[in-house]
Amino acid sequence: MLAYQHAYHAGNMADVHKHLALYGVIRHLHRKASAVTYIDTHAGRGIYPLSAPETRKLAEYRQGVAPLWDARNVIDSDTLLKAWLLALDPLQTSHEGGLTHYPGSPWWLAEGLRSQDRLQLFELHPGEHTQLTHQALPDNVRCRHADGLTGIVEMMPPSTPRVCALIDPSYERKEEYQEVADTLITLSHKVRHAIVLVWYPLLSAGRHHSMLERLRNAGVHKLWRSELRWRAPVTNGHGMYGSGLLVFNPPWGLDERLAASMECVLPVCSNEAHYHADWWMPESS
Ligand code: SAM
Repeated sequence: MLAYQHAYHAGNMADVHKHLALYGVIRHLHRKASAVTYIDTHAGRGIYPLSAPETRKLAEYRQGVAPLWDARNVIDSDTLLKAWLLALDPLQTSHEGGLTHYPGSPWWLAEGLRSQDRLQLFELHPGEHTQLTHQALPDNVRCRHADGLTGIVEMMPPSTPRVCALIDPSYERKEEYQEVADTLITLSHKVRHAIVLVWYPLLSAGRHHSMLERLRNAGVHKLWRSELRWRAPVTNGHGMYGSGLLVFNPPWGLDERLAASMECVLPVCSNEAHYHADWWMPESS
């Protein structure tokens, strides 16, 4: 079952949360010259024109990136959020300064890729994969029409000294939560130093709890959790009430940088919005 298309949701609050954290990790990795292999296990299309019919249908970006873009001139220039918003600038085609395009994770990963780095993109949906291969990407990027969870494990360990992966499934199948947990458990044994970001939806059904418990039971340490809620969870309710992110081996300072940016995000998110971050599993003693 591959019905999900990210174009319907591009630029929503979950994308803001996930891509902001990813951007923070990439900036941290670029402080050192040693090469990084980046992996995006569930890449999507790459760049989303906000005028596309699919994106306009739900127009989720209007409650996500768009109000932040509109407020960009008053956002504190020391924040990660400000730098992240400025990075969007070259993609925009409107002379009036409006937001016209929002990029997906492949673009955020490719944007600052250095000659020594590598980027591997996995996308299983044939149509999404074709669109991805039509994007202008640097020579050190490889797109594969393959299962990202199997693919990332097969790639490990890569030849570069450092590794950073984003695991961002659509969770169309309930089993994906366990599959993601199992993949992270395997990665934590194979490449102990890898930085891995795992995105998950916060749903009233609470499906992510089984994934978190599986990781705890498997003893995966150095696992940091960041959750953004735009409304309170409703029992038996439908839909996503927030966005969750687990980071294995989070870079030092990411928690503070993300928290400072979330102080700017929360007021434009909703008046019920709440941000919380903690260690799900700290470093083993
Ligand atoms: N990471 C993207 C971003 O942040 O812009 C969004 C990805 S979207 C949530 C999930 C994508 O994974 C979809 O494009 C879907 O077709 C793809 N997909 C689903 N199952 C997959 C699998 N097993 N391996 C690789 N891609 C898969």
